[in-house]
Amino acid sequence: MTAELAVQATAVGKTFPTKAGDVVALTGVDLEVKVGEFVSLIGPSGCGKSTLLRLIADLDTASTGSLEIFGKSAQQARIDQDYGIAFQQAGLLPWRSVGANIALPLELHGFSAADRKARVAELAELVGLTEFIDRYPDQLSGGMQQRVAIARALAERPRLLLMDEPFGALDEMTREYLQTELARIAAETKAAVVFVTHSIPEAVFLSDRVIVMSPRPGRITDVIPMSFKGKRGDALRESPAYFVKVTAVREALHGTPVERANER
Ligand code: ADP
Ligand code: MG
Repeated sequence: MTAELAVQATAVGKTFPTKAGDVVALTGVDLEVKVGEFVSLIGPSGCGKSTLLRLIADLDTASTGSLEIFGKSAQQARIDQDYGIAFQQAGLLPWRSVGANIALPLELHGFSAADRKARVAELAELVGLTEFIDRYPDQLSGGMQQRVAIARALAERPRLLLMDEPFGALDEMTREYLQTELARIAAETKAAVVFVTHSIPEAVFLSDRVIVMSPRPGRITDVIPMSFKGKRGDALRESPAYFVKVTAVREALHGTPVERANER
């Protein structure tokens, strides 16, 4: 059963001991992400989104509970390169061309020059950067840099993509454009995605399910399925079904506007 899940978190907790006392970053987190599923984590700053993503990526370890990635430990999944990761900062190496940045994980893992070249061409095509393969990061816009980071994260065909506010530093137009691109890429590669954001429209547009979190202590308070039919595109952004879900997520985040309704 568990092998059919990309992520299975059971009663996961994380406490950071600090000089001022323990910080309970996460408590009692139960989360299952299916193979190929797109899940967003949304919640106010400090609710533990990045911490949860870092536990899944084996960049830190849980204090309590258990965590399985494709039925294995997070450590084994990391060793097996089961996931790719992308952050808010593209984190490209400025002295390497676009192609050489995308090829970095392939180089580290001993792919031949010919294999690297073929795969880089494929990835550049996937993220729409074929003509920019020989450019350098400082010659690219922020949105293009982020596309390079996504291509790099996908280099080894991971079955899971972990993204922490990857579009957080981009302007709204670029952001919407990349959201549409990411939805297409996720569908094409069939990778599961765990996507951290604090943008409600972004979470609604991209996700199969939106996981709503709240701080102090960080926990999951709601899980909202999106159940949109068909492709993620501009038509969806303007559809009534989309606004219904944006409202549902907003109310889950902020609480239903009962008090204001009573004031009237
Ligand atoms: P989010 O990504 O949702 O903004 P984080 O996961 O970064 O939240 O942080 C959750 C809580 O854990 C915050 O209160 C943060 O200050 C605390 N925290 C995160 N990492 C550490 C750490 N290494 N040491 C101490 N506290 C931490
Ligand atoms: Mg964060």
